[in-house]
Amino acid sequence: MSVTEKNKNLIKNEAHRLGFDFVGFSKADFLAEDAPRLERYLKENMHGEMKYMENHFDKRLDPRLLVDDAKTVISFLINYFPSETQNPNSLKIAKYAYGKDYHLVIREKLNALLNFIETEIGAVNGRGFVDSAPILDKAWAQKSGLGWIGKNGNLINKGSGSFFFVAELIVDLDLPPDGPVIDHCGTCTACIDECPTEAIIEPMVVDGSKCISYFTIELKESIPTEMKGKFNDWMFGCDVCQDVCPWNRFSKPHQEPLFNPHPDLLSMTRKDWENIEQETFSKVFSKSAVKRTKLSGLKRNINFLKE
Ligand code: SF4
Ligand code: SF4
Repeated sequence: MSVTEKNKNLIKNEAHRLGFDFVGFSKADFLAEDAPRLERYLKENMHGEMKYMENHFDKRLDPRLLVDDAKTVISFLINYFPSETQNPNSLKIAKYAYGKDYHLVIREKLNALLNFIETEIGAVNGRGFVDSAPILDKAWAQKSGLGWIGKNGNLINKGSGSFFFVAELIVDLDLPPDGPVIDHCGTCTACIDECPTEAIIEPMVVDGSKCISYFTIELKESIPTEMKGKFNDWMFGCDVCQDVCPWNRFSKPHQEPLFNPHPDLLSMTRKDWENIEQETFSKVFSKSAVKRTKLSGLKRNINFLKE
């Protein structure tokens, strides 16, 4: 086995030990195929008020502009599919936000892996990314063979579905790349047909500015009145285009205790959410990404569902 293959195996084994479910490797190169897609997305304002997405256009397509002498992008998937979901008579929260903020959980694992590489392999210049604007995480995960980008815009792993966080390490180490996998959406259009706000305007093109996730999390102003009655009780994010995807029949519960919700999150009813006050909000979401909207943002969403 070559030294680079050996190093790749060392990194894979340690990543699994740290709790990453899948690991794949790509050559750090310009993402030529994704450039026109990103350009169109921004030109047609599908990012809505998420103006930060306009920054660093070149860097987002070329990892060598993010890390000096970058050679390899290592992609990771980490499962967040819960073993239990919310009370059926409840307002809904996207499953990714049930537990501790994934940025914090994954950042720690990426740092631990970089330290491991430094100790076991040698000096490394590297940088970790978890759902951060400067990198097209799903494009890299696809290139690394971890899955394909489905018509709903999510990364789908054939054996395990799409309820995964995606993260990357860009490093200046030469490591043998894995090949991409082929698309298995076929003739299915379930996500496009079932999206409550018709935000999937064509395969793989989710108009962010029409998506419930955008309205309930990113939008700072009032939710447009033409969206009334379309949210199907989603008060923070939306899982519809993943819940209806046939590949998610293969989802298995995650093994990361930090992603477990506060028990009250599962038992709270619609009425409980409608009457939520700061004390309960702080208790249920003490470490969660839901804190981003603050109680006032969550209440705006709840009131929009009520009116
Ligand atoms: S998250 Fe919900 S609103 Fe957004 S594209 Fe998917 S189904 Fe549509
Ligand atoms: S629901 Fe169907 S079309 Fe949509 S991502 Fe899943 S397999 Fe692809």
